[in-house]
Amino acid sequence: MAGAVRGLSARLRDVSGLLAGRFGRPEICAHETDPVRNLVLTILSQNTTDANRDRAYERLAKRFPTLPALAAARPSELEEAIRVGGLAKAKAKAILGALARISEERGGYSLDFLRGMPLPEAREYLTSFPGVGVKTANILLLFSFGMPAFPVDTHVLRVTKRLGLVPGTFTLAKAALSLEPHVGSGGHGPLHLNLIRLGREVCRPHDPRCAGCPLLTVCPEGKRRMKAHATGGSGGVAAGGGRSEVKRSRAGSPHGEPRTESPSEAAQPKGKGCIA
Ligand code: SF4
Repeated sequence: MAGAVRGLSARLRDVSGLLAGRFGRPEICAHETDPVRNLVLTILSQNTTDANRDRAYERLAKRFPTLPALAAARPSELEEAIRVGGLAKAKAKAILGALARISEERGGYSLDFLRGMPLPEAREYLTSFPGVGVKTANILLLFSFGMPAFPVDTHVLRVTKRLGLVPGTFTLAKAALSLEPHVGSGGHGPLHLNLIRLGREVCRPHDPRCAGCPLLTVCPEGKRRMKAHATGGSGGVAAGGGRSEVKRSRAGSPHGEPRTESPSEAAQPKGKGCIA
């Protein structure tokens, strides 16, 4: 068991180093954004694109400039404001429910009390809100509080499965909780951001560009694909530039992944790694 634990930590260290070598170390603006506003933003991020999430948030912020004003909004008003982000009814209900509960329990619109909590307790509190899962909670805990939480979205899940860091059957939440303790101190944000970037630019769902991937030397799936390519079998190993050398079979994923995914299931940090 101890050997397995050391193995995962060491492999994550290798992956972090290789990604930093290709993409650099993204800056994280922890402690600079309001946690409650980030909670609203992450609820808006579900099942939509970054662009539509941002449009929905801008409209919401313009119409309800303060948290008390937002909390006092009629559901129909809020739904109208965030309609562009999709699932407006469910998201409006989740936002208003969260604000009402925070106000009732804390006497105001603040989550600052979470700063003093151990990470598992803070996560448990956040995930007790309807519509807030482990991914959303970890985004908040990492980017708003600077805690060593590790958000796993569909990009991170796909890449870590292909790397053999988590079993193919793991869910987003299971993968996050499994990987989190093994990421080096201070490395959770940069690794999260760089894995997302790799997943978007290189390790794409249907045509991973293994030949040009910085992780090829540590990736069993990439090696398998390269070998299949060399022997004339199927397996996408496109080197980049938008041209696939070999078209991968579309029959299915070796990891049982969904065939399609939302362009963004997580609140992707903007600029220096901020989410708002
Ligand atoms: Fe993805 Fe291929 Fe890179 Fe492995 S080598 S992480 S499968 S792009």
